[in-house]
Amino acid sequence: MTKEKLHFETRAIHEGENIDPVTGALNTPIYQTSTFAFETAKELETEIVDAMSWVPESFLYSRTGNPTTSVLEKKIASLENAEDATVTATGMAAVSTTLMSLLNAGDHCLASDDLFIVTHSLLDDVLRSKGIDVEQIDVTDLSNIEKSIKENTKAIYIEALSNPHLDLADIPAIAEIAKKHNLYFIVDNTFLSPFLLRPLDLGADLVLHSATKYIAGHGDALAGAIAGRKELIDKVRYYNDNLGTAISPFVSWLILRGIRTLHLRMPAHCKNAQAVAEFLESKEEVEFVTYPGLESHPQYETSKKLLTNGCGGMITFRLHGGKEVMEKFVDSVKLAAIAVSLGDVRTLIYPKSSNANIIRFSVGCEATEDIIADLEQAFKQL
Ligand SMILES: *Cc1c(COP(=O)(O)O)cnc(C)c1O
Repeated sequence: MTKEKLHFETRAIHEGENIDPVTGALNTPIYQTSTFAFETAKELETEIVDAMSWVPESFLYSRTGNPTTSVLEKKIASLENAEDATVTATGMAAVSTTLMSLLNAGDHCLASDDLFIVTHSLLDDVLRSKGIDVEQIDVTDLSNIEKSIKENTKAIYIEALSNPHLDLADIPAIAEIAKKHNLYFIVDNTFLSPFLLRPLDLGADLVLHSATKYIAGHGDALAGAIAGRKELIDKVRYYNDNLGTAISPFVSWLILRGIRTLHLRMPAHCKNAQAVAEFLESKEEVEFVTYPGLESHPQYETSKKLLTNGCGGMITFRLHGGKEVMEKFVDSVKLAAIAVSLGDVRTLIYPKSSNANIIRFSVGCEATEDIIADLEQAFKQL
């Protein structure tokens, strides 16, 4: 039975995993070691060469490679339909190592104008200070992209479903533009996960994640992941090694434990979020709700085309009445935790007074009725 033929659900559980040949341990062990020992000086010398040129299964030192981490990399590569994948200590390490491995001083990078706040600051401040010219544009308007491409443009960077406004870019169309102009097309797929969208199949060059979110799913670890062609992933590995943003073996193990149930969690997030979005849209206290499963979403047609497996667990909405009403509402919810982050099995609510009083709602996997009842009682407090 070749693993390529197996379904996503089966690969989420089996891909990359082997029964431990020494002990028979069924579950992948945590190889909690900083370094690896060799029989001879010659063997060490050979391993140094292999590890530094990213030969698979060459383990020298855990910053460069580790067996637990390697299992996670294989699984993520398989789920994203990628040739290869690598993982990092945080999602931001995935974003920064990817961009630094592809962009140099003097290059121009086009990016979406709605991005995770720290990605925005990396692009607009950190990379700009190193001589990389970043231009943020509305990528839901394709003509905007074409006309912003310059002689020195090297890459297009977007979030598949953007944080926090849930813009849904037309990935196949952007991929075509990128190919035509010979640009790297990089997609942050954090909000959807490979269960809902696989950007590499749609023409992207690299897909990355804050694995902290849906991939881990349980709010207990920080990690990042990048998938794509081996030639590009090896460049990212080099930066991950040099910048020292390696994941720890224990965290790789936690992410592995989470990812095995990704295909069970995502449909629950989608079902709950669709119901919550429809509920919110029915409330007169709500000024607007953004969710790609609602006909009112500005890119609903793109959503129907790309998100055939569900629209994810993230909702953005705003209440009438400004900051005071928003805070009263948020303070009244009981089941949802007031917290940043997302993609947890627990429902999280994040009031963004710094962003026009929008509320980012990460719908968890609790019973649909309980999540809606919690919101209903919070509306009654207003
Ligand atoms: C959270 C997040 C990141 C950063 O991930 P960390 O694991 O918190 O470093 C990057 N992109 C998106 C879309 C995110 O939501």
